[in-house]
Amino acid sequence: MVGAAVAYGLARAGAHVRVLDEGDTAFRAARGNFGLTWVQTKGLGNQPYFELTRASVDGWTALAEELHEVSGIDLAYRRNGGLVICIGDSEAEERRRFIASFKQQAGNENYDCAFIDRPELQELFPNAEIGPTVSGASFSPMDGHVNPLFLLRAFSGGLKRHGGSAHTGHAVKEIRRSGSVFEVRTGDHTFQADKVVIAAGLGTEHLARMVGLDVPVRPERGQVLVTERTSPVFPYPMSGLRQTDEGTVMIGATREDVGYDTGTTVQGFAGMTRRAIASFPFLAQLRLVRGWGALRVLTPDGGPVYAESESHPGAYVATCHSGVTLASMHANLLPRWVLENRRPSELSTFGPERFHVQPAA
Ligand SMILES: Cc1cc2nc3c(=O)[nH]c(=O)nc-3n(C[C@H](O)[C@H](O)[C@H](O)COP(=O)(O)OP(=O)(O)OC[C@H]3O[C@@H](n4cnc5c(N)ncnc54)[C@H](O)[C@@H]3O)c2cc1C
Repeated sequence: MVGAAVAYGLARAGAHVRVLDEGDTAFRAARGNFGLTWVQTKGLGNQPYFELTRASVDGWTALAEELHEVSGIDLAYRRNGGLVICIGDSEAEERRRFIASFKQQAGNENYDCAFIDRPELQELFPNAEIGPTVSGASFSPMDGHVNPLFLLRAFSGGLKRHGGSAHTGHAVKEIRRSGSVFEVRTGDHTFQADKVVIAAGLGTEHLARMVGLDVPVRPERGQVLVTERTSPVFPYPMSGLRQTDEGTVMIGATREDVGYDTGTTVQGFAGMTRRAIASFPFLAQLRLVRGWGALRVLTPDGGPVYAESESHPGAYVATCHSGVTLASMHANLLPRWVLENRRPSELSTFGPERFHVQPAA
């Protein structure tokens, strides 16, 4: 997802771009995510991350329109706000506190989010009764959602339209400097390039080491469920619940530390459906048609990493755990950095050196 966005942005700016992608055997969060473009919970305690997320989402409408034009694909992007549903009084209290802290950090105007109580929440859902234990929700007009698979396909179509190419089944084994160029080896093939951007999800750490960068990432499993199609019931996406343009309801997602296991569990599915039904009891009537597990790509502090190697200038790394939300920034800011050799100020705090601070003696 990250590589597709950066590659598209580079090709659009006139660069000659090749994408080397491991393919179907790789871990690919891009194929298993929830499709939210989400701001309201991103960056408490990390103002630059909040600002980056907000700026990216502010650029999303233009990105969706541009990709529609260049690829012919309508991404089903909607930005009319999103909610975090609270069940019981303590969750409501906690959410109110979260909003207050965020407003204090980001400023009342900048952090556009408010707590709404039960009656107000019910008014937002005229076609779906909320459950008796729902205590309210936070609502933010900053949030939205999109079809993430269409997004991938549109990036890929746009890349080709701008003269770039993608090579699937090419797991990168080696990256090295050879004179003034990089040589990138995948099995029997060796590609040459003036610059290299490593955006390989959970494969990033291994590849980044080849250009002298230490970028720790770890997997976190998220399980997702999809129901049969139903009539329009959810006008807004929620953290953990959204209705797709096609009418299915997505229910998600667990947060599990299980290494590289992409499996699903009855326990995981049961916990998610229990909460979904507590939020909207009618969901118990819908049949489930699909479920999967996928791995998030997490750095130690959950923030993104954007860096250029000091030992191998011209080699860059980009990784994050909100690749859908940050897609517009990845397609715009990162290509500028790579092509202009100048790090945009918005990205100055996202280097991996923040993980390698020595404790004071
Ligand atoms: C359950 C779940 C829900 C999520 N929900 C959301 C959401 O609602 N909103 C949001 O913004 N984000 C969400 N995410 C996160 C989002 O999917 C990721 O941030 C995004 O996919 C990360 O993109 P990536 O390109 O870094 O990694 P991936 O999407 O994992 O892609 C990695 C790519 O690198 C390639 N690769 C790996 N190693 C090599 C190698 N050696 N050589 C060549 N290619 C290689 C793979 O083939 C793959 O294509 C969710 C993730 C999960 C798991």
